[in-house]
Amino acid sequence: MATQEKTPVENAQLKDIISHAKEYGFIFPSSEIYDGLQAVYDYGQMGVELKNNIKNLWWKSMTQLNQNVVGLDAAIFMHPLVWKASGHVDSFNDPMIDNKDSKKRYRADVLIEEKAAQYENEGDKARGDALTAEMGKLLEAEDLDGVRELIIREDIKCPISGTANWTEVRQFNLMFSTQIGSVAEDSQTIYLRPETAQGIFVNFLNVQKTGRMKVPFGIAQIGKAFRNEIVARQFIFRMREFEQMEMQFFVRPGTEMEWYEQWRDTRRKWHEAIGIPADKLRFHNHDKLAHYANAALDIEFQFPFGFKEVEGIHSRTDFDLTQHQELSRKKLQYFDNDLNEEGKPYGNYVPYVVETSVGADRLFLMVLCSAYQEEEITEGDSTKSRTFLKLHPALAPVKAAILPLTKKDGLPEKATEIFEDLKYDFNMIYEERDSIGKRYTRQDLIGTPFCIAVDHQTLEDNTVTVRDRDTREQVRMPISELKSYIDKAVNFKSIFAKLT
Ligand code: ATP
Repeated sequence: MATQEKTPVENAQLKDIISHAKEYGFIFPSSEIYDGLQAVYDYGQMGVELKNNIKNLWWKSMTQLNQNVVGLDAAIFMHPLVWKASGHVDSFNDPMIDNKDSKKRYRADVLIEEKAAQYENEGDKARGDALTAEMGKLLEAEDLDGVRELIIREDIKCPISGTANWTEVRQFNLMFSTQIGSVAEDSQTIYLRPETAQGIFVNFLNVQKTGRMKVPFGIAQIGKAFRNEIVARQFIFRMREFEQMEMQFFVRPGTEMEWYEQWRDTRRKWHEAIGIPADKLRFHNHDKLAHYANAALDIEFQFPFGFKEVEGIHSRTDFDLTQHQELSRKKLQYFDNDLNEEGKPYGNYVPYVVETSVGADRLFLMVLCSAYQEEEITEGDSTKSRTFLKLHPALAPVKAAILPLTKKDGLPEKATEIFEDLKYDFNMIYEERDSIGKRYTRQDLIGTPFCIAVDHQTLEDNTVTVRDRDTREQVRMPISELKSYIDKAVNFKSIFAKLT
């Protein structure tokens, strides 16, 4: 191979990632033949594998690596009082504002945050911070007129009409509702859950008692959540139907800050362990705390459209369990025998909760943005560009492709034999169409870490070449070593090792 120069292209554009995701079977717009449904997406043949790998990794990192964290799969439909107790019926609102000329609706807080980000990009971070802080105060005081005045004072214009002809700011509830029951008179309004956390809270005692769990312990859950988001933008970053991976960790009151810090650090390490560069991640402490929290921060990733939240770490106090106690009139308390043994008066208490909450879809987008690479390759006199997905091998949808060099001379038979042997351990692809170069390119585009070529030498000495996706280098090895070679790279163990 001739000398090669690689020039990675920084900051892939979101539009490149969207078209790549569509073209190679990762993500399709929902109901596309009917022109799609806003902010709803389907995962294609590659997307579902990548997403499942992300979810499995999260699940195992929570439940398998931590003796005191167990899983749950609660229903999406819940009793309507759950959402009264949690505060979602009364206050799960976004402040919205319409532009009278374009008739477009915006989240008022997002318009202001974007202005603040603009100041920061222009080098005036202090002005940006002051603006965000002022907005935080107004929202806290529920001063919607004040928020509108701020938008006007800052001369924020609608990007479509270019005017500042704004309506009032109004609150808009984000929950989807539907009817349960077949007879109209008996039917009841219920909600599609806007977060998975409440399924955990209402099952707190079921799990604690049947699992004989001792505080501190956690309950993890992966499941769909639904929000009627006003601003549906930025691809799968903000969807109306999405998936959350949440873990509620129940602790003794007074110890919550220790656990908050511990989970904050553990979760950040996790993002780095899956290959996200440390300088693309940051913590963002909340200025305005939600009604249930006494501390909260976001783990943010530098998306092509700026640093944005991927995961929330929240210290939720005893708010949720206490609320459910009151509305259900059932005790949701824990009897702490250890306090007795420590010589303190033993008794029942409502545990405090530290939550880690991450969106599977946002994580997917982060992984995709971080993996998407374009490079220029110079070979001799010619230069060509290559696009590939530098996914962590443990997350890659396909682990290896088996490629017979030609369609004759017994090579397909030999290659099929290898494929049949390895398919029990890894998700594999067998491909014999087109030139080997084109086949390598196709695997690069879906992020397959290894391409195994079967050639004439294979028939003689049972060796194959293994091409590395990132370096494009090839090594020759015996077929008998393939399994352990691939396993070493794709096993979750390599990630777990960085977490403990
Ligand atoms: P944002 O401020 O971006 O609306 P949030 O603070 O409302 O997010 P949380 O309620 O803390 O989000 O939800 C936890 C996680 O769920 C988020 O960090 C994000 O990864 C994911 N999430 C929330 N809303 C959406 C959505 N509409 N689409 C995709 N993922 C979402």
